[in-house]
Amino acid sequence: MKVLSVTSELYPLVKTGGLADVAGALPLALKAYDIETKTLIPGYPAVMKAIRNPVKRAEFADLLGVQANLLEARHEGVDILVLDAPALFERAGGPYVDPNSRDYADNWKRFAVLSKAGAEIATGAIADWQPDLVHAHDWQSALTPVFMRYGEAPERPSLITIHNIAFQGQFASDIFPELGLPAHAFWEALEYYGTISYLKGGLVAAHAISTVSPSYAEEILTPAFGMGLEGVIASRADDLYGIVNGIDATVWNPAADQLIAQTYTSAALKKRQANRDALAARFSLDSDDGPIFCVISRLTWQKGMDLLAEVTDTIVAAGAKLVILGSGDHALESSLLAAAARHKGRIGMVVGYDEPLSHLMQAGSDAILIPSRFEPCGLTQLYALRYGCVPVVARTGGLADTIIDANEAALNAQTATGIKFAPSSADALRSAIRRAVRLHTSDKIWGQLQKQGMKCDVSWGRSAERYAELYQRLVSKGQ
Ligand code: ADP
Repeated sequence: MKVLSVTSELYPLVKTGGLADVAGALPLALKAYDIETKTLIPGYPAVMKAIRNPVKRAEFADLLGVQANLLEARHEGVDILVLDAPALFERAGGPYVDPNSRDYADNWKRFAVLSKAGAEIATGAIADWQPDLVHAHDWQSALTPVFMRYGEAPERPSLITIHNIAFQGQFASDIFPELGLPAHAFWEALEYYGTISYLKGGLVAAHAISTVSPSYAEEILTPAFGMGLEGVIASRADDLYGIVNGIDATVWNPAADQLIAQTYTSAALKKRQANRDALAARFSLDSDDGPIFCVISRLTWQKGMDLLAEVTDTIVAAGAKLVILGSGDHALESSLLAAAARHKGRIGMVVGYDEPLSHLMQAGSDAILIPSRFEPCGLTQLYALRYGCVPVVARTGGLADTIIDANEAALNAQTATGIKFAPSSADALRSAIRRAVRLHTSDKIWGQLQKQGMKCDVSWGRSAERYAELYQRLVSKGQ
């Protein structure tokens, strides 16, 4: 089967969140199911610089008024199609924001053009390659199924995956004429309380919708999590699927990780200590036995980082330590930095995005704190399982689906892999931290939690099988 994946992020070329990881890893895992994926991404400067020996596969004279070339290259095993449109993508900032962190004013156009290119490829823009199915991701490529639905060529099956429904691509309705869609597409697909929502359009037009965990699939049917799209999703409930993400088990493998101080396996967990020591040195922590909690996160309300800021004194009072790696909301950054300054030797913080350090933190911390208010899937708890870093997580979305709480029954049955708490509040987080500190006093119980976590299969294998089944179902239905 041939699949076109359309995405605005692709690990390792361009990443702001979990979407990039999924877009990068899934095509590789799907090869085992005889699925050949080509991945369409914008020609951002980082992409143009990284690709080697690109081959021109098509030329678009007029994609919503923009001229673009389509280049094909292979990067780290993934076949990529690069939309080379300098007027839209050759910019100094990030994929969505300028160097001052402001959204580009023409994001509506940048991602409409990307989506349009996806629809053109679906209908034969590349002479000798036509996909059997198109897989769109998030609002940035949500218009691909819309263009396919309202195009003239016979429609191919399409799937849209929601990685985070908080980002919907909402724009003023006066851009509608620029999209070149028939007038009825406005009311049928795109209209959202007088504005235009790209994600809504994709949810209406795609043949199926998936999201990145079964629990999140249920949650987004409710007003508390659906962020205004719960009604649209409810109307598509029969075509809604939840498939948990996997992780790249070669990048995240404590037995071979070159980014950590000492490699280890579950059979030789004692070796982890060298990473713990390296981590403590890096963050100037005291060298006592109190557990080290880590946080590796965007610093946002979604991630519950305000709750973290509220409980820092509790962590220290309980005899534990905390290391934080993150960036985001400036007020949260300042309050966490202030906590670190208040508790030297107990709390350390690095502001920024640092992939190598995130590996050492997973390898050297005793536990990871993830107090998210909502979490479609979450990757950091999966890395943590693999690294014997016990996840302490809010019971929501993918966190609820991937961690087994250390309650009495699960401890007795030796199935527990972490600690779950609810609701996402400072009080519940405090109790969970105290519970973790108590459990950590028993080497036996803690070692059991670590080993059980390390046994979990968090690779792409099982998830890829589910996607392969879903693709197959959609293609069979479309015939
Ligand atoms: P989201 O996509 O909502 O940010 P996920 O848990 O799905 O959350 O994915 C976050 C990814 O970004 C993980 O790979 C995590 O390790 C990484 N990450 C987040 N913040 C940082 C940081 N400051 N430095 C390094 N990696 C980070």
